[in-house]
Amino acid sequence: MRVLVIGSGGREHALCRSLKLDPQVSELHCAPGNPGIEQVATVHAVDPLDPAQVADLATRLRVDLVVVGPEAPLVAGVSDAVREAGVACFGPSSEAAMIEGSKAFAKEIMQAADVPTARSRTCENEEQAAAALDEFGPPYVVKDDGLAAGKGVVVTDDRQQALDHARSCGRVVIEEFLDGPEVSLFALCDGSTAVPLQVAQDFKRALDGDHGPNTGGMGAYTPLPWAPDELTDQVMREVVHPTIAELSRRGLPYQGVLYVGLALTSKGPKVVEFNARFGDPETQVLLDRLETPLGGLLMACATGELGLDPVFKDGSAVTVVIAAENYPGTPVKGDVITGIEPSDNAYVIHAGTRREGDTIVSNGGRVLSVVGHGPDRQSARRHAYDLAGRITLRGSHYRTDIAL
Ligand code: AMP
Repeated sequence: MRVLVIGSGGREHALCRSLKLDPQVSELHCAPGNPGIEQVATVHAVDPLDPAQVADLATRLRVDLVVVGPEAPLVAGVSDAVREAGVACFGPSSEAAMIEGSKAFAKEIMQAADVPTARSRTCENEEQAAAALDEFGPPYVVKDDGLAAGKGVVVTDDRQQALDHARSCGRVVIEEFLDGPEVSLFALCDGSTAVPLQVAQDFKRALDGDHGPNTGGMGAYTPLPWAPDELTDQVMREVVHPTIAELSRRGLPYQGVLYVGLALTSKGPKVVEFNARFGDPETQVLLDRLETPLGGLLMACATGELGLDPVFKDGSAVTVVIAAENYPGTPVKGDVITGIEPSDNAYVIHAGTRREGDTIVSNGGRVLSVVGHGPDRQSARRHAYDLAGRITLRGSHYRTDIAL
């Protein structure tokens, strides 16, 4: 099987690493890739947001499968162009990806499919926003309707701040606050059926103790020993199956991964958000534990032939994100990174890096994610943090309480 992965972040490095380990995968390509991906795949300088360029590359390379990593290419129509070129694609159509691309659309689907989620109002102007804020009361939750790279959601007790955010966004979804621990469940979907991966948890805030600003994610771990045993079955039954059935009913069969962000409230799990792609950095830990070969699994999604549930190895995986100075503000770039050689039980996934001759330098906010594994969470944590402690990057920072 010849596979082309689209993207250049930590998620795509983790996908490439696992695809490389699948004996069915004979050739692996990535566009545009990063210095970590270069070690396992042939990289191509193609714009991932240009559907025609991606479809052309897939045809030229005669790949059997294209795997689209990030949300922006999905919303831009990359999967549609690849499928039109006659190549199997893991990743929903641009219309189905609106489940992530528009919070209002996601809410509409959930309402139609009777999926448990926060009560909400879609507001087009300040007057409607003010009324919705008063209907639900504090803490206020205001979400930009469109893709905002993790910066679109404000949760605050300050009514004025909530209103200011609504004004700056235009169309927003305002909803009731959901209280409870958050977990993520990824379901692989082939258009008509779906199978679950393990549940994972990510850490969104920049600083220890869940303080500081929101980020793309500072770490993750799986499995979650404290999650209820029946959680996965319940979420598949109450959320994933009704959602993909509703999308199918609307002529939008969903092929790819449906990322379900959940709050475990006192009234049961409720959907906080849907994403149309793998989460970063949860993917790093899930793929570390996945035993079922990844290439075959993603191909089955792309061809409508999903079978048995994926199998996971025993033990635990923990990932710690090394962030650049000033992240999540404008990150400092171009500093030399050392100490990234793997140990027996830990390795480095590249996210925001760039090669300069023989050295690797920082090139983004989230620079690396260090993955450790072991028979239990404590050992996986220790292995990840031992390796993280050996890495040098001026001004960098990471949380010390991931999976604690
Ligand atoms: P989203 O982009 O929708 O996942 O929102 C980003 C973050 O905001 C989530 O991970 C939650 O921590 C928080 N959040 C979103 N919606 C709610 C809600 N209804 N209640 C409480 N927190 C929320």
